[in-house]
Amino acid sequence: MEYDVIIIGGGQSALAVAYYLRRTSLRYLLLDGEAHPGGSWQHGWHSLSLFSPALWSSLPGVLMPGGQQYYPTRDETIQYLKAYEDRYRFPVQRPVKVLAVEKDTDGFRLQTTAGDYRARAVVSATGSFVNPYLPDIPGKEDFRGALLHSSRYRLPDAFRHQRVAIVGEGNSGAQILADLAPVADTLWITRQPPSFLPDDIDGKYLFDAATMQYEAMQQGRNFQRPSLGQIVMVPAVKAARDRGVYQHYLPAFDYFYEDGIAWENGRKEAVDTVIFCTGFRPALEHLRPLGIIQPNGKINTRGTMATDIPGLWLVGYGQWTGFASATLIGVGRTARKTVEELNACLNDASAQRE
Ligand code: FAD
Repeated sequence: MEYDVIIIGGGQSALAVAYYLRRTSLRYLLLDGEAHPGGSWQHGWHSLSLFSPALWSSLPGVLMPGGQQYYPTRDETIQYLKAYEDRYRFPVQRPVKVLAVEKDTDGFRLQTTAGDYRARAVVSATGSFVNPYLPDIPGKEDFRGALLHSSRYRLPDAFRHQRVAIVGEGNSGAQILADLAPVADTLWITRQPPSFLPDDIDGKYLFDAATMQYEAMQQGRNFQRPSLGQIVMVPAVKAARDRGVYQHYLPAFDYFYEDGIAWENGRKEAVDTVIFCTGFRPALEHLRPLGIIQPNGKINTRGTMATDIPGLWLVGYGQWTGFASATLIGVGRTARKTVEELNACLNDASAQRE
């Protein structure tokens, strides 16, 4: 069966696109690599809490419960996405991983773990979680301890009584440090001194600041927005700060040695595990056959529309595919615009055929 649109992914970005697609007459389908609803939130650490308050963590159409002062947990976010999907009865097939997308004169062919699919247009909404970024630090192969990316961290129990280095001064680093400090001997490694938002400023402030920067950019004005790496004082982070967990931190280390991490100035610290909270890169491997992935790992777009392949849109990957598109509140805006473009494009193509 040929679809008008196939959305690759089943996380919040894919659902936001589906929300607007269901208002059209287009035949669409979501293919998600996960076995269950919730996108990559399902793989977050168990104590993860959003840094955006509930009121600022909603997809179009349904408010995330909790209001202005409450930071939803990982499980509540998964539950919200599941309920969202159920409410609108989106056609999702899972687990179906898209392995390769190819284009021919009739549209797109998607090779998947469940066979081939065809579509006139494709929306890629695969996020970045499946493509974690680890800095290339010399000596990795000599290190006898464990290396882990934050995407694989779940619970503190496995690290009880260990000496653990946590790398990264963003929200992930601060939250994982808060989680581990009560059970492990922790070292915090940061490229720059960590910067904490005041207690009364929440994730909404970061979103507002990003909005101001976006508007300034549109008007050709200069506006220096605070980095999203700034740490939001969610309750677990506040409690850790009050226990003195964040008082000490060390600069980025230069290499690994057999028993730990080391600096050019001769300092060495023995550790059992290093956890990298160093972010992600867009998960676009399935689009490689199209030959449009740039050396920086991204794809050229105008808004969310791929400029080099007609009929392909990319939603939810961050600033380069639309302002704040990698957030729950922000993706709705880019999803709506995407569906407007897509609908117009497919209707034009149908009209030309008739
Ligand atoms: P994902 O949730 O990653 O979903 C992508 C889906 O696509 C997954 O189900 C995946 O299995 C599937 N997929 C991938 N490749 C394929 C393929 N080839 N074929 C088929 N399916 C595929 N945002 C906020 O708004 N507020 C916050 O407080 C906040 N906190 C965050 C805290 C952390 C620690 C992190 C990591 C992110 C946070 N974010 C927050 C950012 C953002 O909301 C998430 O990154 C979000 O999960 C992105 O949604 P997505 O749908 O684009 O991608």
